[in-house]
Order: sequence, then C-alpha cells, then structure tokens
Amino acid sequence: MKSDIEIAREAKLKKISEIAKEIGIDEEYIEPYGKFIAKVNLNFLKKISERKDGKLILVTAITPTPAGEGKTTTSIGLSMALNKLGKKSIVTLREPSLGPVFGIKGGAAGGGYSQVLPMENINLHFTGDIHAISSAHNLISAVIDSHIKFGNELKINPAKVFWKRTMDMNDRALRQIVVGLGGNTNGLPREDGFIITAASEIMAILCLAKDLKDLKERLGNIVLAESFDKKLIKVRDLKIEGALTVLLKDAIKPNLVQTIENTPAFIHGGPFANIAHGTNSIISTKMALKLADYVVTEAGFAADLGAEKYLDFVTQVANFNVNAVVLVATIKALKYHGGVNKNDLSKENVDAMLKGMDNLKTHIENLKLYNVPVVVALNVFPTDTENELKAFSNNCNAPHAFLRAFQMGSEGAIDLAKLVTENISETPHTPIVNFNMSIEEKLETLATKIYRAKKVIYTDKAKSKLKFLKRHGFENLPVIVAKTQSSISDDPKKINAPKNYDFTIRDFELSAGAGFVVALAGEIMRMPGLSKIPNATNIDIDEDGNIIGLS
Ligand code: ADP
Ligand code: MG
Repeated sequence: MKSDIEIAREAKLKKISEIAKEIGIDEEYIEPYGKFIAKVNLNFLKKISERKDGKLILVTAITPTPAGEGKTTTSIGLSMALNKLGKKSIVTLREPSLGPVFGIKGGAAGGGYSQVLPMENINLHFTGDIHAISSAHNLISAVIDSHIKFGNELKINPAKVFWKRTMDMNDRALRQIVVGLGGNTNGLPREDGFIITAASEIMAILCLAKDLKDLKERLGNIVLAESFDKKLIKVRDLKIEGALTVLLKDAIKPNLVQTIENTPAFIHGGPFANIAHGTNSIISTKMALKLADYVVTEAGFAADLGAEKYLDFVTQVANFNVNAVVLVATIKALKYHGGVNKNDLSKENVDAMLKGMDNLKTHIENLKLYNVPVVVALNVFPTDTENELKAFSNNCNAPHAFLRAFQMGSEGAIDLAKLVTENISETPHTPIVNFNMSIEEKLETLATKIYRAKKVIYTDKAKSKLKFLKRHGFENLPVIVAKTQSSISDDPKKINAPKNYDFTIRDFELSAGAGFVVALAGEIMRMPGLSKIPNATNIDIDEDGNIIGLS
C-alpha cells in the first residue's frame, strides 16, 4: 500500500471556499490561509447560534498500544461515510503537535485513505495556532521574570513560580533548567523548565473558551506563583490578560479543512488528555453542531481518560450532549491485553485475543454508566486473521462493525456509519461526576466506577495540596485525572482489566484559568523526549518541494 503522503498527494482537493459554501458558511466569514485552509470568523457562530444542534458522536478507544489504535482514522472515515449515506457530517479533531510528528508517533491527520488534508500543513505549522499559544504562554514567563527583577512589587517567591516556559518540540534537555544566569542585568537566577505546548494551560483554555470575553476571563484567572506572604499570584495581577488575548485573537477561530473525500473538517486546538481534557476546541465543535446533522469528534487516549473527561467535564462546560460513542478496538491491542509480547502481536492468537476482550468489556460497561449507546469499531489491520475476526464477532457484547477506512476510505466505514445512525440516542447522556461534589467524592466515583479500584489512597503531598486547594477556595472545581494511558488503572503494567487495587493520588495541580484541578496518579510527562532514532530522520523534501516521510 502507498504511504500516507503519497495517497494525500494524489487526492484532488477542492478550494476551501467551496467546502465552506457547501456547509453554508457565508464568504464574508471565511478567512483563507492559502487555497485549502481557512479560519472561520467567530461572528458567524453568533449569527447561527439559535440553530438546533446536530447529533454528536464521540470516538474513543480501548486501552491502546503505544502506536495508537486508530481513533483519528476512524473519526475521519466515519464522517466521510455518513456524508456518503447522504447525511451532513463534519469531523472535528485536534491539531497535531510537532513533538510527536518528529518524535515517534508521526502526525495526527489520520492515515491511508482516511485523512484530513493538506496533511503536510496540518502536521507542520498549520495556521500558527500552536505558535500563538507558545507566544502567549512565554509572554507570561517573560513578564514574571521582568517583574521580579524590577522590584518585585507583588512579592513573587522565585522558588514558588509554578508557570514554566513552553515550546512545541520534544526536548528533554529543557525539562529542568536555571534561568537568569549572568549577573544582575539578566534577572534573578531561579529554577525553571519547559513543557510542550500541548501541555500548556493556555492550550486547555483556548479549547474551553466560549468566546473572546470568556478567553480573557480565563487567562486572567491563571494562577502562576505564590508570593512570600502565601498569596496566589494570577495573570490578572500582572495586567497582561488583554495582551495574551490579543496574541490569541486568530488562534481562537476554528480551522476549516477537508477530508480526502472533500467532506468538511474542523481541526482546532490540541490539549493533552491526561493533564487536560484532550479534545479539540468547544468553539469548533459548537460551530460544527450548528452546521451538520452528525458531528464526529475524537477524545484523546482510551475511554477511561478522554471519553470520561468528555462525558463528565467538556459536555458540562459546553452544554453538549453526546448521542453515541464509538469505541475503537484492534485485534493487536486485544492480544496485547491478553498477554502477548509486543513483538508477537502480528501472529495469530485467538485465545489471547479473547482474554484481552475483558479490556473492551470493561470500557463498554463504563460507557454504559453514562446512558449513551456504545458501538464498537474493530479497526482491521492487514495482520488480522479470519479466525481472529470471527472470534471477535462472536464474543463482542455490543453492536460492532469492522472498519476498513484506512484501506478503503468511506467505503470501508459504511457499515459502521449505518450502525451508528441506528444507535443514536435522543435523550441526554448522564454524567457520573457532578460539579458540586467535593474533590474526594469525584475521585472516589471515578476510581471505583471507571478505574475499577477498591479505594483511593492519598500521599502526604496530595493531602497537603488538597488542604492548600481548600484554603484558596478551589474545593469544588471539576477534577481532571492525570494517569497512565496504558492501563485502566494508575499502573501502566496492569494490562487488560485490573480491579480491586489501591488507586494512588500523589499530588494535585491547579489549572484555575482552565477551571479544573488536576489529580496526579503517577508520573506525567509534560515535556516528552525524542527516541534514539526519531521520526525526524525519515522526513525529507525534494527539489520540487515534495515532502517524504510524514505520516
Ligand atoms: P489514534 O488517533 O488512536 O492515536 P490514529 O488514527 O492516529 O490513532 O492511527 C495511529 C496510526 O495507525 C496512524 O499512523 C494510522 O495511519 C495507522 N492506522 C490506523 N488504522 C490503521 C489500519 N487499519 N491499518 C494500518 N494502519 C492504520
Ligand atoms: Mg488521534
């Protein structure tokens, strides 16, 4: 089979103004970035705000292997297939980060015959949203150090600055650094570090903001340091929330592109699904809901992370209702949960696959708690055998379809699309976590119902942080759990369907601007590193400007 970029190059793209016209976006609201990408002015959303919402389909996955099981590929294929069935459908996705593009995982624009285009641009600088977020984030850092140097009126404790610098690259050497070296003219030396832009609180804020006003309000609320007299210092204290909003004035507008079959797609924002909520911007999904009958959106990592956050948190902030969930599974990942070694996942092993289906069953049970229909998409890989596929079909206890969108585009997703339209719920889904619960109650609910733990254990550090949060009035903020994506539990080694263990919260972090508290269960990487042979060594360009190696 051809490479992703070869397939992409052969596709015939329509002008973005044409795509916009087809879904009813008036010319005056389109801000083109070249021929095939456009931002949509937010005044358009105001104009159509009274329209009825379409149906929202959330794509999530079983506990994945490191390569990803195909949520993006499924989301794109499903939306293309819905369009083929004569339904109006838009897919809304996250923007890829340069870290994984040049690191190990590659791009995030789908794959094979299920891609969003132009994939080179989407995977690289796109419309500059991520750069804008990096700039806004680093403006805060620059102002903090300048404030400290020029008299430190706010009495910021340099040892208690929580706000690190950011960059959109995997660079482990910057995780812990010292800034301000070189004498008084260069500021005060203090410990600092970098996080990747997708992990920036500003990324989360951009994706949660309803409009410019809400964006500015949230930016002002960011807590960035503690003062010597133990007061919390906010961005508002530095008086720069206006400047930050100016830097983000275009980044907040949804990006319109098209799929390989010329159907519309919004690609906007890309927060992590562990330390943040892991889905594209609320604004872009809202716009899509006003324009389409079916909106397909993807939540990061597995159902215990991305889907939980979507169904419990994002939908409550945005006032969305999820009408169906598509749970992506692969034979390979099921075998992995059945105990097969990573290097042997391509060999037939029906018994291991059946054993690993406990992971799938756990996620299905969990999702049912939300009173939402669950449809399983078995993403077929060339190594899957007839025996395995048949055994899967016989043992899957939910409506399911085989998906071949990677190999065939919309044709390979028609069965799934039909199944989804037959399983759309008309009643609202019901979150299992309510914003009024205390932080401990929220964690107890998630740990026992979703992560299948016996109980929650708090380390001393977590206990004292909890006191700190309560003292400052944050005890009722929504909770975002940051934990491994490799297990339903808090331990990446516990594969398949762990239960009856202790779920340990080791620390809390405050994202007051985004409006949540992060409960840390395990070490979470905010600045990934490159592998020994990074994907960057595969990427090249010829004299005519043709890129190779992007996938
Ligand atoms: P996720 O969104 O779950 O991380 P992606 O859709 O990005 O997963 O897919 C991960 C990788 O696997 C991508 O490189 C994609 O092209 C590839 N892929 C997805 N589905 C298939 C398939 N059925 N066969 C082969 N490769 C696939
Ligand atoms: Mg993805």
